Amino acid sequence: MFNHKKTDIVVLGAGPVGLTAAHALAKKKMDYVLLDREQRTNTHSYALALHPETLELLDSLGLADQVLERSLQLPRIRIYEDDHEKAALDYSMLPLKYPFLTVISQGELEHILVDSLPKKPLWNHRVRFIEDGGSALNVSVDRLMEGMTGYAVAHIEMQIDKILDYEANYLIGADGHESVARHIAGIEFPEVTPSADYAVFEFKTDADLPNEMRIIIKDQKTHVFWPLPNGHCRWSFQVDPGDAPADSLNKDHHLIQFGDHGYAQLDREHLDHFLTENAPWFKGSIEDLNWRMLVKFEHRLANSFGRDRIWLAGDSAHMTPQAGILSMNVGMREAIDLAEILSDYHTDTERQSALADYNMHRLAEWEHLLDLDHHISAVDKTARWVIYHRSSLIGNIPASGETLTELLAQLHLIDAA
Ligand SMILES: Cc1cc2nc3c(=O)[nH]c(=O)nc-3n(C[C@H](O)[C@H](O)[C@H](O)COP(=O)(O)OP(=O)(O)OC[C@H]3O[C@@H](n4cnc5c(N)ncnc54)[C@H](O)[C@@H]3O)c2cc1C
Repeated sequence: MFNHKKTDIVVLGAGPVGLTAAHALAKKKMDYVLLDREQRTNTHSYALALHPETLELLDSLGLADQVLERSLQLPRIRIYEDDHEKAALDYSMLPLKYPFLTVISQGELEHILVDSLPKKPLWNHRVRFIEDGGSALNVSVDRLMEGMTGYAVAHIEMQIDKILDYEANYLIGADGHESVARHIAGIEFPEVTPSADYAVFEFKTDADLPNEMRIIIKDQKTHVFWPLPNGHCRWSFQVDPGDAPADSLNKDHHLIQFGDHGYAQLDREHLDHFLTENAPWFKGSIEDLNWRMLVKFEHRLANSFGRDRIWLAGDSAHMTPQAGILSMNVGMREAIDLAEILSDYHTDTERQSALADYNMHRLAEWEHLLDLDHHISAVDKTARWVIYHRSSLIGNIPASGETLTELLAQLHLIDAA
């Protein structure tokens, strides 16, 4: 029943972040295994846009053309109050190789990452425990297989087929917001700003969709419109706290509660109501309304990006406001950093020193991205409306690094360089 294997690096989680780490390790011909408890990649849009730097990262992995073929490119964001335009952010003016946002469903992105990966993820491999034995980690894994249960109505359930033991030097924990890696490393994951609940709808429409993302701020709530490929669009409407159950951030869980009422799912009437209230300019048809749910977006930041032999990237270390798509995009760059550190340095002393720097830089970067360091503030030219709604914008602008600095300067929320 037991099976012992050795590897240099275990990558835990084959979401976009773990897949990116695996690509970088494969490129450097490193000895790694990529484990995921699911049977395959996710099939939904979830985090649906790539920042310009993320497309550059995918370009360095030889994947940018495939992504561009299956995506929409948006050069602009417009910010509204009701139907009055208040500000615009223009990526096309920036000195970037790809001066736009790339809209692609997370499922499509994960397919591209898996198809092009030379050493595929080991699906149905659930990490149950990680033990630090000092000179190496022991990673205990349940290999799962489908089995029939013997209830009155038979149904398929995953069962443990074998328990595998991996002895590894390091583990990259890309295992999402409920990270086992983070838990076992004893890293805290405190809330940094209050969570926000969104009613999310995706549908096909005959509307002539604008080639831009739109953020609508009204009554201290933030609503977001994304045009999607093939005549589809996504709307996210912020709803009052408490309208979404706490366990709603679960890939397989369709929401069943709205306000004081229980609903199997959000329905067409909710969508009509939200559109009339918040986006009267939207006049298109609503067809194939196949995604309609309440999602709670928690905003958390780990107090460390790793310890000893366990290091974190992506949602395992941060959860962010929905419109900025920061957690996935920045997480993919963290994955590359971790993979490069582990590839470029070979002794524990060298690796530990580079990993300590990784921790320091990542914490500083996130303090900056979420403005926990309070660097975003008004300058002489800042419009009063923008100052007033500053907190609705932080974390909701899909950009990081220099691009975020340039976009904040377009809003006059920091001094232009
Ligand atoms: C409904 C929904 C809507 C979303 N919408 C948005 C949005 O609009 N904007 C936005 O920015 N973000 C959104 N997100 C969040 C976005 O999906 C994440 O930021 C992104 O997936 C993070 O990627 P990741 O690779 O870090 O983690 P994940 O994609 O969560 O991948 C983690 C992987 O680890 C695997 N795993 C976990 N534990 C184990 C274990 N013990 N053993 C083996 N495998 C394990 C999981 O199966 C999973 O495949 C949404 C998420 C959901 C669920």
